[in-house]
Amino acid sequence: MASISLKNIHKLYPNGYAAVRDVSLDIKDGEFMILLGPSGCGKSTTLRMIAGLETISAGDLHIGEKRMNDIDPADRDIAIVFQNYALYPHMTVADNLSFGLRLRGVERAIITRRVAGIADMLGIGELLARKPAQLSGGQRQRVALGRALVREPKAFLLDEPLSNLDAKLRSSMRTELIKLHRSLGTTIVHVTHDQVEAMTMGERICIMRDGVIVQVGAPMEVYRNPADTFVAGFLASPPMNLLRGRLSGDRVSLGDVSLPLPQPLRDAFAAHAGEEVVVGLRPEDFHLSKDAARLASPVDVSSIATEVLGPEVILVGSLRGSDQAEVHIRCPRDFRSEPGATTTFFYDLSQLQLFDAKTTKALKRPAI
Ligand code: ADP
Repeated sequence: MASISLKNIHKLYPNGYAAVRDVSLDIKDGEFMILLGPSGCGKSTTLRMIAGLETISAGDLHIGEKRMNDIDPADRDIAIVFQNYALYPHMTVADNLSFGLRLRGVERAIITRRVAGIADMLGIGELLARKPAQLSGGQRQRVALGRALVREPKAFLLDEPLSNLDAKLRSSMRTELIKLHRSLGTTIVHVTHDQVEAMTMGERICIMRDGVIVQVGAPMEVYRNPADTFVAGFLASPPMNLLRGRLSGDRVSLGDVSLPLPQPLRDAFAAHAGEEVVVGLRPEDFHLSKDAARLASPVDVSSIATEVLGPEVILVGSLRGSDQAEVHIRCPRDFRSEPGATTTFFYDLSQLQLFDAKTTKALKRPAI
C-alpha cells in the first residue's frame, strides 16, 4: 500500500498541447480517490503519468516515499485496469490472470493459490478455462480486475473500468469495487466522467476541467459547497439550477422574483451588494408544503413538462416573472402538472448558493 503525491505536475504532449497543468494532489495511503471531469479534461493523462505510461513534463510524482518520475512502469508496483480490459485473447482466463506473475518468475504453487483466491473472490472460478471471447462484458471486466489484483500491487489505477457495462451491471460492479476496496484497503485512483460513480464510490473526488483541478473534497462536501458553477452544474442529475440574478442588501432577485436572504447569508454576502450573481438552486430544495422548521420562500413555477421517473417526478418549468431559463424541480412520485399550469413551491432558503457572475466562483457562505 502507498500514498501517491502529485506536485505541480504538467503534461505537454509533443504536439504542444498542455493536457495537464500544475496539478497537485495528495492521495492518502488506502484512499479511494476519484478523478472526475468531462471527456478531454486530462484525467487519463494524469492516471497514465502515475502509471508511467506517459512521461511527466514537469513536477514531482511520489509513490510512498519514492520519487517515481523516471522509474520504469514495471517497477512502480501499481496496476492499471483499462476501459477496454486489454485481455490477451488467445489465453484462457487462468493464463490471463497468472501471466504477470509468471513473467516475474513467481513460484508456481504461489501463482496457483493466488489465482484461485482471486477467482473465488470475484466469482469467476468457473470460467478459468475459457477464452475472453467466450465471456460476457461483465465477466471480462472481472478478469481484468482479477489480473490487477493477483499482483497485489501497492495501488490500483482504474481508467473508466465500468463504462462499457450496461446500467445494471455497472451498478453491481460499483458495489463490488467498494467492497473490494474495503477488504483490501489498497489505494485506488479511479477515473470516470460519471458523476454517479464519483458520488457513490469515492472517499474523495478530484474534479478536473481543461487540464486543471477545480475542486477536491468528500462527495457531499463538493455537492454541498461546489467551488464554482462548473462543479455545481456537473454533479447530480438534474444538476443545480443556475440562474442569473442580482444581489441587494437583503434579497437576491431573479427578474421579478425576489428571494429574501436569511440573516447569516445577508451577512456573508454583504460585501457583494449590487453585484450580478449566478443563483444556485438545487432541484430537491423546492417543497410542495410549507414546513415551519424551514426558512422557505414561496415561488410560482409554470410547468413546461414533467418527467415521470417512477420513484420521483422531475418538473421542468420556469419561475414565473423571472423570464429565465428552465428550472428542474424534484417532486414526489404522485406529482402531476399540465403544461402551462402554475404550482407554488416553497424554496428552502438555507440551501441557497451564490456565484460571482464574472469569475463563476462560489461566494463563501456559512452552513445554516
Ligand atoms: P480524459 O481522460 O479526461 O478524457 P485525456 O487525458 O485522455 O482526457 O486527454 C486530455 C487532452 O489531451 C485531450 O484534449 C486529448 O485530446 C489530449 N491528448 C491526449 N493524448 C494526446 C496525445 N498523445 N497527443 C496530443 N494530445 C493528446
